[in-house]
Amino acid sequence: MRAKEKILIVGAGLSGAVIGRALAEAGHAIEIVDTRNHIGGNCHTERDEATGVMVHVYGPHIFHTDDKEVWDYVNGFMTFMPYKNRVKATSGGQVYSLPINLHTINQFFGKSFRPDEARAFLDAQADKTITDPQTFEEQALRFVGRDLYEAFFKGYTQKQWGCSPTELPASILKRLPVRFNYEDNYFFHKYQGMPETGYTEMIARILDHPNITVRLETSFRRGEKAGYSHIFYSGPLDGYFDYELGRLGYRTLDFERFTYEGDYQGCAVMNYGDVAVPYTRITEHKHFSPWEEPAGSVCYREFSRACGPDDIPYYPIRLVEEKAQLADYVARAEQEAGVTFVGRLGTYRYLDMDVTIREALDTARLYLSRKAENAAMATFLHPPL
Ligand SMILES: Cc1cc2nc3c(=O)[nH]c(=O)nc-3n(C[C@H](O)[C@H](O)[C@H](O)COP(=O)(O)OP(=O)(O)OC[C@H]3O[C@@H](n4cnc5c(N)ncnc54)[C@H](O)[C@@H]3O)c2cc1C
Repeated sequence: MRAKEKILIVGAGLSGAVIGRALAEAGHAIEIVDTRNHIGGNCHTERDEATGVMVHVYGPHIFHTDDKEVWDYVNGFMTFMPYKNRVKATSGGQVYSLPINLHTINQFFGKSFRPDEARAFLDAQADKTITDPQTFEEQALRFVGRDLYEAFFKGYTQKQWGCSPTELPASILKRLPVRFNYEDNYFFHKYQGMPETGYTEMIARILDHPNITVRLETSFRRGEKAGYSHIFYSGPLDGYFDYELGRLGYRTLDFERFTYEGDYQGCAVMNYGDVAVPYTRITEHKHFSPWEEPAGSVCYREFSRACGPDDIPYYPIRLVEEKAQLADYVARAEQEAGVTFVGRLGTYRYLDMDVTIREALDTARLYLSRKAENAAMATFLHPPL
């Protein structure tokens, strides 16, 4: 098929790969550039040579979705193995089940409550003097009372966000974060799993199309638009404008990697709620591929801190100050012809992988339909604000 248009995609993560594939299948010539020396973006997985463990290089990724089309899409490129995310937490020298469920409540308070008893007990723990919670702390105290709040929310949140839960909005904790049964699967989604040979292999297969070329270790700069009929940009929104209006706030992660002979912690994710423990969690990567039996083990101690200019941006902060700055960048982006900002960095939002794929498919479809109508492509599929 003769290629119709030359399109540049910045970023070889899930956003770039899925958009690229859809447009390549429509006959366009797709060039994808990525600063890094590998494809896959933050979902990148690679096998550790020494131990044989499939490592989630930028932190653990678990696939979960209710979106049937997205589930069929990923299964079209990769076999997904059954995987349930069951997280544990260490607090005050004890190990508990998470998310807080009937087991956690019974463990924590040394009880053997049935669901209704636990509900009544927790209701009595809740701080009823708080009628209009403004902060994360007030919201948590109102839901679960001081003991559970301090064991499972206070320290973890403080480490994760680098500020006191009294400085975070109540909206972060929207619903009662407790289950009154023994269900400890972290996600409720209908489809959950792990790619059998890793996310990077899956993304390599998405990119494997004769109309797609990928150039790694190649950074895009704003001036390099000539020759392309359109650009899909999945890099940082503020980075596109050379941070001219300042840097959008992110949290970054430091991973302290260590290896172990055998099984280090017996589960994939162990959270640490105590403030005295400087890391938020330890992830043991072989447990993300429970069908494999690698010789040794690779673990990450995960530390969260403010993102500096040379760090990898992980979690957008999106509090009042950041949103005001974001509005200015969105206004700038709207002036930029021929560019669509996509993905978690291009739109400054936390996006799970399934949402990333959904938006990427919708973006490609919108582009093709606008082309057919001779209409201009949108700058954003969803307004980032
Ligand atoms: C710690 C963490 C854990 C997560 N865990 C889960 C999980 O368990 N389940 C889940 O569903 N989702 C999870 N996610 C979300 C998941 O990582 C995202 O959905 C996904 O990475 C988004 O893909 P993307 O292509 O938009 O962005 P990215 O993966 O960040 O890809 C963007 C790419 O653009 C490249 N780039 C940037 N600027 C430039 C430039 N100027 N020139 C060239 N290249 C550039 C970058 O190098 C990068 O490779 C997690 C995210 C984080 C941060």
